[in-house]
Formats: sequence, C-alpha cells, structure tokens
Amino acid sequence: MSAELRREAGGTRRAGRPPAILHLDLDAFFASCEELRHPELRGRAVIVGGAHALRPGEQGPLGRAVVCAASYPARAFGVRSAMPLAEARRLCPASFVQPVDIEHYAEVSRSVFAVLATVTPLVEPASLDEAYLDITGSVRRFGPPEVIARDLRRAVWDRCRLRASVGVATTKVVAKVASRRCKPDGLLVVPPGTEARFLAPLPVGDLPGIGPRTAERLRQLRVATLGELARRPTASLTAALGPGAAGLAARAAGIDPTPVVLPGVPRSISREETYSADRRDADGLRQRCLALGAEVGRRLRARQLVARVVTLRIRYADFETVARHRTLPSPVDADRLIGETAAALLAATRVGGRAVRLLGVGVEQLAAAAQLDLFTAPSAAPSGLDRALDGLRQRFGPAAIRRGAEGAGPALDWNRDHLDPSAPPLPD
Ligand SMILES: [Mg+2]
Repeated sequence: MSAELRREAGGTRRAGRPPAILHLDLDAFFASCEELRHPELRGRAVIVGGAHALRPGEQGPLGRAVVCAASYPARAFGVRSAMPLAEARRLCPASFVQPVDIEHYAEVSRSVFAVLATVTPLVEPASLDEAYLDITGSVRRFGPPEVIARDLRRAVWDRCRLRASVGVATTKVVAKVASRRCKPDGLLVVPPGTEARFLAPLPVGDLPGIGPRTAERLRQLRVATLGELARRPTASLTAALGPGAAGLAARAAGIDPTPVVLPGVPRSISREETYSADRRDADGLRQRCLALGAEVGRRLRARQLVARVVTLRIRYADFETVARHRTLPSPVDADRLIGETAAALLAATRVGGRAVRLLGVGVEQLAAAAQLDLFTAPSAAPSGLDRALDGLRQRFGPAAIRRGAEGAGPALDWNRDHLDPSAPPLPD
C-alpha cells in the first residue's frame, strides 16, 4: 500500500494525516499590479515608490522616497525594497517609476484571496501579497498537497494574471522558507519527515524571525547553518540569545506549533514617518510621538482593540535603527497613554544629539476590547474625548481635528497594517 493510500485508508481521522500547510507569496506584487494596468511596462525594470511616475532617463523630484517594490528586471540591477529611490534610479536609470497606489493593490489582492478561498476556508493573510493556507482538510477533495499547490498557482495566474511562488510543508515556518527558496514563479514541496534535512544546509538568516543582529550573534557562536542551530544545546543558546533561543532552535529543525489562524486581531498596529530633512529637535520629535500615538489609538479603536505594549522605532541619519518597547500595567486604547509612553521611550534614546530620519510609534499584544474582564484597570477604558474626536474626524476628515500638542506632521509612511487585507475600512 502506498503512503498516500494508507493515509486515505486512515479514514476521516485528521490525526492520521500529516498537516499540509501552504505558503503563497505573489512575485513582485506591487510592480506586477502596475504592469497589469500599464502593459507597456511588462517585462521592464519597474520600481514602485515615491509620489511621481517617471519614464526611463526622466528626472523628477525623488526627495527621500524609498523603493516600495521592484520588478525582477529592476532587481537584476541591484534595486531592493527600502533603498532610497534616488539610489535605485542611479543603479537602474532605464527603470520606470510608478507611484505607490495602495488602494489599487488592495483591490487586486482581494481578487487573489477570493481564489485562495476556493481551496480552503483556513486562509491566514500575512500581508496583501502573502498568505498561509491550511489544506490538510482539502486533500480528500482536491488531491495531494502538491496537486493543490500546482492547481492554485495556475488558478491565480488564470484569474488574476499574477505569478505566485508556493511552498508546501507540514509547518508554517518550513512552508515559508520553501516559498522563498523557489522564487520567482516556483513551487517547492517539503515532504513530511524531511523538514529538518531540508533546512539543515541553509544559512541561519533564511529562517523567518532571524534578523541581521541575531544572525551576527549566531556567527560569533560559530553557528552558520540551521542544522548547526538545531543541534546546539538549548542552554548555551539561551545564555547567548535570551529566552527566545529554544523556540528558534526548534524552528530551525522545522518544528513550529503555530496554527494557521483566521484573520481577526492583527499582531501589531504602527505608524511611521520619514522626514524630508533629518531632525535633531527633541521637543518637535516628542510632539510627533504624541501625534503618531493618537493616530495609532484611532486605528485601535476603529477595530475595537486594546494593546498591552507600546513600541518606538527610530532610524538615525546613518540608518542605524533602534526599537524600544514598554509593557503597560493594563491594556490601553487611549491616544494620550500611547503617545506619552512613546515619548517616554524617546527620552531614553540619543534623540537631540543625533539626527533622526524616521520615527515610528506602534502597539503590540493586541486583544479585542470586548474580551477585557471585569478587573480591567481604568486605563483601558476608552477615553470619552478620544471617542468624540474619532467622531469628528469621521465627519470632517482625519486632518480636521488635532489636539494642541500634536502639531502638523508629514504624510505617514505605508506600513504593515495598511497591508492587512482583513482590516475593515477606516474612516479615512
Ligand atoms: Mg511577495
């Protein structure tokens, strides 16, 4: 009896079938959206970023805009996301630049998610162009995971004219590594039981959750590959990396207990802004913390959420980026608490002495406001003033009402929770 038949013979007991998780990632999504509506861009070097469309060779006001996305022909010239647009244009003068149109990309994204929903109801959006699907229960109806993945890639192409890379594995982390490894326009299946072997030769930086700083620390510990990371005794890793190390080592072996979760509560909400000129004014930046905190609070309340952790992110002029966070005694959604906590975190940085190019305020550890229990401290109670301001903004637009201390700021950067297709539309 083949393994496949044995699994079928196992009947409807889901426990008898290994989990099948699919990670789908659209290739160069924003750039592909622009190519779809501007066919003359197809197959060309396309850069999405900034506020103005530019043809090859054309000069324009790039300011300090950054690359939001790039087509593969542009990437061949070294163009990368988050790179200053001016630098990208120097690397690839023959590129077409298209301004960011997030509303349009969200609309295209919805059409893709409609296709994904035909395979399983268990779809977890990771961003506008990325999703995890639990297809364990779809195998009986649609065939083995590799067949489902192949058919899904074809359906996304047929119905949306978009290329997607798909990884299939028994866990989310392995599926994601697989989809990254087969980009662009690829399909990679990691059969059950081969997860650790698949990951072992890969560099530690390939594991989602290992950033450049952790990768550097691992290098110092002479851990270069995921196989080496998985084999290291937990105690020595924890001593060097902190309490998260055990989980990291497990993921390096392909073990990941996190299930595919339906959209609901996002992981974080944040607002960031990049300044057209570097700033050293500590007072002004403090005011911006309050304004960004108010913006975050408004988005929390629009989704009826509260947050436990406030975060601050600063990028200095030399691109060094620091993040600070503070856990609050009880969950909050009030503008002032979020803003003032961020301002307190700001006071502990080297702001003022060092030039700042980016400032961001965010919240994490979110929960539905309705789930709060009776023992919730007063700081979680929605502030009447905040609610009143939300109502006025809804009627007159987001810029209409500001508290005295907030001050006018630059346009906000696009951020991850903008890219959450599950998010309900906001008043603005
Ligand atoms: Mg993508």
